[in-house]
Amino acid sequence: MKHLKKAAVAVVGGGVIGASVAYHLAINGVRNVVVLDRGSMPGAGSTSRATGGFRAQFGTAINVRLSIASREMLLRFPDDIGADPEYSPVGYLWLASSDAQLASLLAAQRSQHAEGLREAVMINPGEAASINPAVSLDGVIGGAFCPTDGYIRPMAILRGYLGAAKWLGARVQWRTDVVGMSCNANGRIEKLRTSRGEMAVDAVVNAAGPWAARLAAMAGASLPVVPLRRQVAVSRPPDVLPETTPMTIFVDDGFHFRVRDGRVMLVWPTPGAPGDPFDVSVEPEWIEAVTAKARQRVPALRDAVIKRNSCYAGLYEMSPDRHAIVGVSAECENLFFVNGSSGHGVMHAPALGRAIGEVICGFPPTLDVSELSPLRFAEGRAIEAAELL
Ligand SMILES: Cc1cc2nc3c(=O)[nH]c(=O)nc-3n(C[C@H](O)[C@H](O)[C@H](O)COP(=O)(O)OP(=O)(O)OC[C@H]3O[C@@H](n4cnc5c(N)ncnc54)[C@H](O)[C@@H]3O)c2cc1C
Repeated sequence: MKHLKKAAVAVVGGGVIGASVAYHLAINGVRNVVVLDRGSMPGAGSTSRATGGFRAQFGTAINVRLSIASREMLLRFPDDIGADPEYSPVGYLWLASSDAQLASLLAAQRSQHAEGLREAVMINPGEAASINPAVSLDGVIGGAFCPTDGYIRPMAILRGYLGAAKWLGARVQWRTDVVGMSCNANGRIEKLRTSRGEMAVDAVVNAAGPWAARLAAMAGASLPVVPLRRQVAVSRPPDVLPETTPMTIFVDDGFHFRVRDGRVMLVWPTPGAPGDPFDVSVEPEWIEAVTAKARQRVPALRDAVIKRNSCYAGLYEMSPDRHAIVGVSAECENLFFVNGSSGHGVMHAPALGRAIGEVICGFPPTLDVSELSPLRFAEGRAIEAAELL
């Protein structure tokens, strides 16, 4: 068996989260950080599938804080990291069609205001029409809007963090599948078994996205993260709507759309794939249904054509309370989790990478993430408020 160079910290998963972790460990002064990913290049997992939304309009204080902290870090990204995350504050527009939906938006907004996100406002249908004139407001009674929400480029953030981490001395090994772990009698991980040989490690960070539970199980640890398929349709012809169109979300069924590189991207959350939960095929019936919905709700798309080959699916990494899981494993003292962002992992990658970097290095936290502890489920402290999306 080939032996790979020992790592002080092995980060398993080179998606946006693993890249942010590697950078924050390296900038904290940790030497010999290694990122391992089974893909042949960046973007093998969910990060390349993300539609690139960024928002602070969440319903819980911790998610609002993660967004505000990440936004500050994204604004400094060109200076700190040397790359452009293309943060584009065109806003997120939520549309409600019942009093109950409006009440949930208002309750979420109270949490946002309490965290300092004063620019988030409730709007009436007339204001919604001026914010996004392309949308049909049949049945819409009001909504919420935050002008500092908008878009980011997931792969630019991933590549930026990886590049900066490498510049600081971290190594990245592609085509390296972690297939097992050797633990000592106390359950501490001593070696990773990979498709390219064994690697001795001092600590391991689980940044394996939707596959995180499988990775944790290799160390005998449990992690309640499951994959959830999300299908995306991309419409033609291009340039029907301006690039500045805000992310627009119908609260009643979660249908939402944005414009990226001239194409309208349509997302309508439906239950996960039947059978294999890691299946990322796109269902023809879903394409038909989402096309009909788009034509009805966005009149400018009435002639839109959605071709099968321009649709794709990816996997969210769901935790039981739809919040990230951050901290050391209860079952394995040198296994660290930064998982379960539940579909918000790109936008929160800056703050989450910094947070786990501080945990590992024993630094005081810049942002208190103790609510996101892996222990919360066993200790009956799961986060209760339902998130908006
Ligand atoms: C359709 C869609 C739209 C989305 N839109 C948004 C959005 O608008 N905004 C947002 O913030 N988030 C969005 N997300 C969620 C976002 O993509 C994820 O939260 C984020 O990418 C998670 O990053 P990650 O690094 O944890 O996982 P990933 O990017 O999946 O990276 C995990 C990596 O781990 C590697 N890996 C796994 N197991 C092993 C192993 N055993 N050995 C070696 N390597 C391994 C994989 O190859 C992969 O590269 C979206 C997701 C989908 C599917």
